[in-house]
Amino acid sequence: MNKQKLRRTPPQELAVAAAGYQREAVIPHCPTCAAPCCKLDKLVLELEWAQVKGLWQLEESRKAFDKRLATGRGPIEIRPANGLYYAHSKPCPAFDAACGCTVYTTPLKPVGCSDFPVYENEGEIMADLRCEAVDIEALKAALTRDLGPDTRIRQSADRDFPFLVTLSVQR
Ligand code: SF4
Ligand code: SF4
Repeated sequence: MNKQKLRRTPPQELAVAAAGYQREAVIPHCPTCAAPCCKLDKLVLELEWAQVKGLWQLEESRKAFDKRLATGRGPIEIRPANGLYYAHSKPCPAFDAACGCTVYTTPLKPVGCSDFPVYENEGEIMADLRCEAVDIEALKAALTRDLGPDTRIRQSADRDFPFLVTLSVQR
Protein backbone atom coordinates (compact mmCIF):
# COMPACT_ATOMS: atom_id res chain seq x y z
CA MET A 1 0.00 0.00 0.00
CA ASN A 2 1.30 3.49 -0.85
CA LYS A 3 1.83 5.21 2.50
CA GLN A 4 2.14 8.59 0.80
CA LYS A 5 -1.53 8.37 -0.16
CA LEU A 6 -2.49 7.81 3.47
CA ARG A 7 -0.86 11.02 4.71
CA ARG A 8 -3.33 13.62 5.86
CA THR A 9 -3.46 17.13 4.50
CA PRO A 10 -2.91 19.95 7.05
CA PRO A 11 -6.67 20.68 7.25
CA GLN A 12 -7.34 16.99 7.82
CA GLU A 13 -4.76 16.96 10.61
CA LEU A 14 -6.49 19.94 12.20
CA ALA A 15 -9.87 18.23 11.89
CA VAL A 16 -8.50 15.12 13.59
CA ALA A 17 -6.95 17.23 16.37
CA ALA A 18 -10.24 19.13 16.87
CA ALA A 19 -12.19 15.87 17.03
CA GLY A 20 -9.67 14.56 19.55
CA TYR A 21 -10.19 17.59 21.80
CA GLN A 22 -13.94 17.15 21.58
CA ARG A 23 -13.60 13.48 22.47
CA GLU A 24 -11.22 14.09 25.40
CA ALA A 25 -12.43 17.36 26.91
CA VAL A 26 -15.92 18.22 25.69
CA ILE A 27 -18.07 15.12 25.31
CA PRO A 28 -17.19 13.74 28.79
CA HIS A 29 -18.47 17.02 30.27
CA CYS A 30 -21.82 17.00 28.43
CA PRO A 31 -23.77 14.87 30.96
CA THR A 32 -23.03 17.43 33.71
CA CYS A 33 -23.21 20.58 31.57
CA ALA A 34 -25.00 23.47 33.30
CA ALA A 35 -26.18 24.95 29.99
CA PRO A 36 -26.65 22.20 27.40
CA CYS A 37 -26.36 23.50 23.84
CA CYS A 38 -29.17 21.14 22.77
CA LYS A 39 -31.67 23.41 24.53
CA LEU A 40 -31.06 25.79 21.62
CA ASP A 41 -31.45 28.86 23.81
CA LYS A 42 -28.15 30.19 22.48
CA LEU A 43 -27.45 28.13 19.39
CA VAL A 44 -29.35 27.89 16.13
CA LEU A 45 -29.69 24.45 14.57
CA GLU A 46 -29.39 24.29 10.76
CA LEU A 47 -31.44 21.45 9.33
CA GLU A 48 -32.22 19.70 6.07
CA TRP A 49 -35.87 18.85 5.43
CA ALA A 50 -35.23 15.12 6.14
CA GLN A 51 -33.88 16.05 9.56
CA VAL A 52 -36.84 18.30 10.35
CA LYS A 53 -39.22 15.56 9.27
CA GLY A 54 -37.43 12.94 11.35
CA LEU A 55 -36.71 14.97 14.47
CA TRP A 56 -40.17 16.54 14.71
CA GLN A 57 -41.78 13.26 13.59
CA LEU A 58 -43.82 14.90 10.86
CA GLU A 59 -46.25 12.92 8.74
CA GLU A 60 -47.13 15.68 6.30
CA SER A 61 -45.39 16.58 3.02
CA ARG A 62 -42.73 19.27 2.87
CA LYS A 63 -45.13 21.46 0.90
CA ALA A 64 -47.81 21.16 3.57
CA PHE A 65 -45.26 21.82 6.32
CA ASP A 66 -43.91 24.91 4.57
CA LYS A 67 -47.46 26.20 4.21
CA ARG A 68 -48.04 25.59 7.91
CA LEU A 69 -44.92 27.58 8.77
CA ALA A 70 -45.86 30.38 6.38
CA THR A 71 -49.27 30.75 7.97
CA GLY A 72 -47.89 30.92 11.50
CA ARG A 73 -49.14 27.52 12.62
CA GLY A 74 -45.75 26.42 13.86
CA PRO A 75 -43.63 24.88 15.12
CA ILE A 76 -42.75 28.40 16.17
CA GLU A 77 -39.11 27.49 16.84
CA ILE A 78 -38.48 26.67 13.15
CA ARG A 79 -37.74 29.25 10.46
CA PRO A 80 -37.25 28.36 6.78
CA ALA A 81 -34.57 30.08 4.69
CA ASN A 82 -32.65 29.27 1.51
CA GLY A 83 -34.04 25.75 1.28
CA LEU A 84 -33.02 24.91 4.83
CA TYR A 85 -34.64 25.21 8.24
CA TYR A 86 -33.34 26.87 11.39
CA ALA A 87 -34.47 25.89 14.89
CA HIS A 88 -33.94 28.11 17.90
CA SER A 89 -35.36 28.95 21.34
CA LYS A 90 -36.85 25.56 22.24
CA PRO A 91 -34.96 22.37 23.12
CA CYS A 92 -34.15 20.11 20.20
CA PRO A 93 -36.74 17.29 20.07
CA ALA A 94 -33.90 14.74 20.15
CA PHE A 95 -32.59 16.10 23.47
CA ASP A 96 -33.25 13.96 26.50
CA ALA A 97 -32.20 15.69 29.73
CA ALA A 98 -31.26 12.34 31.27
CA CYS A 99 -29.64 10.64 28.26
CA GLY A 100 -28.46 13.49 26.06
CA CYS A 101 -28.86 13.21 22.30
CA THR A 102 -31.06 10.32 21.22
CA VAL A 103 -29.98 10.50 17.56
CA TYR A 104 -26.26 11.11 17.98
CA THR A 105 -25.17 8.15 15.84
CA THR A 106 -27.88 8.52 13.19
CA PRO A 107 -28.20 10.59 9.99
CA LEU A 108 -30.78 12.74 11.77
CA LYS A 109 -28.02 14.50 13.69
CA PRO A 110 -27.19 17.80 11.94
CA VAL A 111 -23.59 18.42 10.88
CA GLY A 112 -23.42 21.41 13.20
CA CYS A 113 -23.94 19.14 16.19
CA SER A 114 -20.74 17.25 15.35
CA ASP A 115 -18.80 20.45 14.73
CA PHE A 116 -19.81 22.30 17.88
CA PRO A 117 -17.88 23.58 19.78
CA VAL A 118 -14.41 22.94 18.19
CA TYR A 119 -13.89 22.25 14.51
CA GLU A 120 -11.67 22.82 11.49
CA ASN A 121 -12.75 25.46 9.01
CA GLU A 122 -10.73 26.45 5.93
CA GLY A 123 -7.44 25.44 7.50
CA GLU A 124 -8.06 27.02 10.90
CA ILE A 125 -9.51 25.83 14.17
CA MET A 126 -12.74 27.42 15.34
CA ALA A 127 -13.68 27.28 19.01
CA ASP A 128 -17.06 28.39 20.34
CA LEU A 129 -16.75 29.64 23.91
CA ARG A 130 -20.50 29.33 24.46
CA CYS A 131 -19.65 25.76 25.41
CA GLU A 132 -18.56 25.79 29.04
CA ALA A 133 -16.26 22.81 28.45
CA VAL A 134 -13.98 24.71 26.09
CA ASP A 135 -10.78 25.93 27.73
CA ILE A 136 -8.89 27.84 25.07
CA GLU A 137 -5.48 27.44 26.73
CA ALA A 138 -6.04 23.71 27.17
CA LEU A 139 -7.17 23.50 23.54
CA LYS A 140 -4.00 25.24 22.37
CA ALA A 141 -1.91 22.86 24.48
CA ALA A 142 -3.75 19.86 23.01
CA LEU A 143 -3.17 21.13 19.47
CA THR A 144 0.53 21.64 20.15
CA ARG A 145 0.75 18.15 21.62
CA ASP A 146 -1.02 16.58 18.63
CA LEU A 147 0.54 18.64 15.84
CA GLY A 148 4.09 18.85 17.15
CA PRO A 149 6.30 21.10 19.29
CA ASP A 150 7.05 23.45 16.37
CA THR A 151 3.40 24.44 16.17
CA ARG A 152 2.68 28.17 16.48
CA ILE A 153 -0.86 29.25 17.27
CA ARG A 154 -2.31 32.74 16.83
CA GLN A 155 -5.60 33.48 18.55
CA SER A 156 -8.22 35.99 17.41
CA ALA A 157 -11.87 36.57 18.21
CA ASP A 158 -14.71 37.46 15.87
CA ARG A 159 -15.45 41.19 16.10
CA ASP A 160 -19.24 40.75 16.09
CA PHE A 161 -19.37 37.41 17.91
CA PRO A 162 -16.45 37.46 20.38
CA PHE A 163 -17.35 34.02 21.71
CA LEU A 164 -16.15 32.64 18.34
CA VAL A 165 -12.39 32.22 18.55
CA THR A 166 -10.15 31.40 15.60
CA LEU A 167 -6.86 29.61 16.13
CA SER A 168 -4.52 30.02 13.17
CA VAL A 169 -1.96 27.25 13.21
CA GLN A 170 1.48 27.48 11.68
CA ARG A 171 4.06 24.70 11.69
S1 SF4 B 1 -22.50 23.25 25.67
FE1 SF4 B 1 -20.65 21.97 25.43
S2 SF4 B 1 -20.51 20.74 27.33
FE2 SF4 B 1 -22.58 21.62 27.21
S3 SF4 B 1 -23.80 19.99 26.27
FE3 SF4 B 1 -23.09 21.36 24.61
S4 SF4 B 1 -21.16 20.46 23.87
FE4 SF4 B 1 -21.63 19.52 25.85
S1 SF4 C 1 -29.60 16.52 17.28
FE1 SF4 C 1 -28.73 15.79 19.20
S2 SF4 C 1 -26.78 16.89 19.44
FE2 SF4 C 1 -28.02 17.99 17.93
S3 SF4 C 1 -29.14 19.57 19.08
FE3 SF4 C 1 -30.46 17.77 18.90
S4 SF4 C 1 -30.10 16.61 20.79
FE4 SF4 C 1 -28.39 18.06 20.53
